[in-house]
Amino acid sequence: MTNQQSYLLIITSLLVLLLILSVGYQEVNKEQKLSLDNFLQKIKNGEINRVMIVNRSELIGRTANDQKFKTTKDPEKSLSDLLKDYEVPSSTIFKLEITQQTTNLKEIGIGLLLNIILPFLLIGLIFWQFLKHTQRGASQIFTFGKSGIKVYNPNDPDRITFKDIAGLEEAKEELMEVVEFLKTPDKFIRIGARIPKGVLLVGPPGTGKTLMARACAAEAGVPFFYISGSEFVEMFVGVGASRVRDAFAIAKKNQPCILFIDELDAIGKVRGSGITGGHEEREQTLNQILVEMDGFEKGTKVVVLSATNRGDTLDPALLRPGRFDRKIILDLPDVKAREEILKIHIRDKKVRKINLKQVAERTPGFSGADLANLCNEAAILAARKNKEFIDQQELLDAIEKVLLGPERKTKAYSKKEKEIAAYHEAGHAIVAHYLPHSNPVQKISIISRGRAGGYTLKTPLEERNFYFRKEFIDELSSMLGGYAAEKTIFNDTTTGASNDLEIATDLAKQLIIRFGMSEKIGPIAYHKPFREFNIERDYSEKTAELIDEEIRKIINLALSRALAVIQNKKEKLDKIAKVLIKKEVIEKKQFEKLIGEPKGSFNPPLENSELI
Ligand code: ADP
Ligand code: MG
Ligand code: ZN
Repeated sequence: MTNQQSYLLIITSLLVLLLILSVGYQEVNKEQKLSLDNFLQKIKNGEINRVMIVNRSELIGRTANDQKFKTTKDPEKSLSDLLKDYEVPSSTIFKLEITQQTTNLKEIGIGLLLNIILPFLLIGLIFWQFLKHTQRGASQIFTFGKSGIKVYNPNDPDRITFKDIAGLEEAKEELMEVVEFLKTPDKFIRIGARIPKGVLLVGPPGTGKTLMARACAAEAGVPFFYISGSEFVEMFVGVGASRVRDAFAIAKKNQPCILFIDELDAIGKVRGSGITGGHEEREQTLNQILVEMDGFEKGTKVVVLSATNRGDTLDPALLRPGRFDRKIILDLPDVKAREEILKIHIRDKKVRKINLKQVAERTPGFSGADLANLCNEAAILAARKNKEFIDQQELLDAIEKVLLGPERKTKAYSKKEKEIAAYHEAGHAIVAHYLPHSNPVQKISIISRGRAGGYTLKTPLEERNFYFRKEFIDELSSMLGGYAAEKTIFNDTTTGASNDLEIATDLAKQLIIRFGMSEKIGPIAYHKPFREFNIERDYSEKTAELIDEEIRKIINLALSRALAVIQNKKEKLDKIAKVLIKKEVIEKKQFEKLIGEPKGSFNPPLENSELI
């Protein structure tokens, strides 16, 4: 025998042995044949908890103690349809572990097996083993229907609950209502309570909107159906709408459940940008969502959750009662919430002597996703240094790494910068509070957002059609409050006020050229709407000069009022700034308590302002 022949003999005999063994194994472990009805009944009873679909027509079920059953089904009918027809409760369906196998060894000729498959057999075996693993993982997320809608298993051991989400207490509280409804819908329906049909989660990217929606489903123990606006982006016109229709149909079939439409703002956007195709697609898809939501019969136990990064640009039709009538804002986390989020994401990592509070203090403006990323980066840094544990140093270094990543909008503050931001925002707030005609303060924050180092939120008391000149002046003053505070405290000004100045200048200009609020120029409108791109000016050089002069005058008047407040109420400014440095955010109530004097209680004398 040649060397080659003996090799072949050994391998062939090995294979034969393997075949015999596997056949023997099959004999020992033979599946018991059942009718389809009996098979489904065993699933319904919870006896069978694993099902393998072979070539779409054969079902092999296993019980917890590894008994095997076999049956056949119509290959055109999906298992999920069969289960639903047999009225297997969805909670049972989602506990089932389903795997698919599409190759059938029996159909492949033995000759072929011997000649070609031989070298691949071992590789195949390993691969199959691997495949089995990945399939099991993936079976926690099924995809359904034409729409490719995803569904998360509410009983997945890795599921996310409210416990895994730090901060966002108000959002959780509001969503608890939805959870309770989904847990015991009949209690609510019987008494005639109106349950929110649609809840919109609004917040900057990475603040946990998707996370929150999934947690809701897990808390309620109902299936979570998921489609995303961004998936519609490259679709042909009309596909978005039909997917929406399909998704709602599936959700209704599986109620109670949550249908989550993620990234609502992305629907049809990319194809849009001016071309009608994208616009039409967007309209059609949005319309379909509205139609479906309006079409819920009374007592439908589906709650539609949706998430968007930008609540301001949404179609108002979406927000009408009976649609997304509840809006929950998810803010960027404050320093305390950041610490909590860090705790969650560091808990499965090996750490030593770390101070998460310090990390939280240095990361204003980081979203939850940024913080999760930070923890991971710290672990990578530690591993690259061949360390066994993550130390504080890695965490601090990771801050920078996250910041330097692409598309960062947030800035890290040094201690000095934090102080500047605090005084700046406190300046806005103090001026707005003390002047009689400006809008009251709602919230002050030095968590940076976009270009701004911080922000002071003021909401108008009421939406009105008319505003007085004196109100504009005080509004201008509070816009310049940050600048005035910097000037008073640091005897200097920073670049941080640039955005304020832009807005203030623009407003001052409007007062003069549009509203006739300058005595010198009088009631003449030099403002031409819809002609922004027309460089041509239809007033004289002299008028232009006069306008510039009046803008300067009105701005200076506003600034002098702001400075008067700041200088007179300096100890309050210090107080607010100190609290801001520590807490980063001050809400309306606390702010008013800290100030201790009523709104509008200081009206500076109006030197050089004969006009007020
Ligand atoms: P969004 O949908 O708002 O863009 P995600 O829900 O996708 O944000 O959040 C991204 C990731 O950030 C989450 O998977 C989670 O790891 C982390 N994360 C965000 N917010 C929180 C939070 N409040 N608590 C814990 N982790 C959070
Ligand atoms: Mg998301
Ligand atoms: Zn400012």
